Amino acid sequence: MVNWFKEIENGEIEYGYAFQNKLFEDQSKFQDIKVIDTLAYGKMLILDDFVMLTESDEFVYHELIAHIPVCFHKNPEKVVVIGGGDGGTVRELVKHDCVKEVVLCEIDGMVVDVCKKFFPAVAGRLDHPKVDVKVGDGMDYVRGLENEVDLMIIDSTDPVGPGEGLFTGEFYQSVSKALKPDGMMAAQSESPWAEAEFLNRIHNNIRTGFDYVRPYIASVPTYPRGLWSWTLGSHSPIDVDQFDYERFAKVEPELNYLSDAMVRACFELPKFYRKKLSVLNQ
Ligand code: SAM
Repeated sequence: MVNWFKEIENGEIEYGYAFQNKLFEDQSKFQDIKVIDTLAYGKMLILDDFVMLTESDEFVYHELIAHIPVCFHKNPEKVVVIGGGDGGTVRELVKHDCVKEVVLCEIDGMVVDVCKKFFPAVAGRLDHPKVDVKVGDGMDYVRGLENEVDLMIIDSTDPVGPGEGLFTGEFYQSVSKALKPDGMMAAQSESPWAEAEFLNRIHNNIRTGFDYVRPYIASVPTYPRGLWSWTLGSHSPIDVDQFDYERFAKVEPELNYLSDAMVRACFELPKFYRKKLSVLNQ
């Protein structure tokens, strides 16, 4: 028998996925965690009834959130990931020789354990010698850092539940303080199809911590509306020509989405999205 999991967006849109079996469900201290085996996308991780990743398309999100900032930063030796307990971002980061140390701070230890068990191809690098996994609130962790991180990656759930604080101006200001002066941040920044007011709130909050912001986009079929965005934050202008294609070439053969041309393409934003974002129109 086939079952259906339905993700509801804002009480307005329903996305449905047929699945055979529910492989796991439990309520952690922070959220409901489910793993199901979908017919179309393989195993799927679901938190509080929102799709987090699937075996088939997770590579897009993780390549974009990791390799783009690593190749923009001059020398990203120390990287901190906030959220991202599935391990996909860490898996991509440790591919780079220039990345010497990765700290992952995930609020929910059950997410880490569940992903190690059900998604070994995603979580398999969480035990890598360069990686230190901390279980705790990313907001508290970042508040305790000052001028010591090269690159910070905010790989969070949506701004509801435990992820809410990770989209506030106060948080981006503490990210900015945690970074060295030439440091950089990359954050998942929701679908370009989301309400303009919601997207502008996120980007204006990032602007309270960073002088320059630069969104980029790619298609992730199992995220609401199918088109997703990430945003870089920096204290110096972010010019696409600064991208280090030599560094990128060392990892590119292993990737499934990004190529030199796709790196350039992800910074080409559709007109409707450019018009929506007030940070791009200043
Ligand atoms: N790729 C995903 C997406 O956009 O749907 C995000 C993946 S990852 C599973 C998000 C993680 O952020 C979750 O495991 C969640 O527990 C974690 N998280 C939420 N709030 C957090 C906080 N305040 N500190 C640290 N981690 C947090």
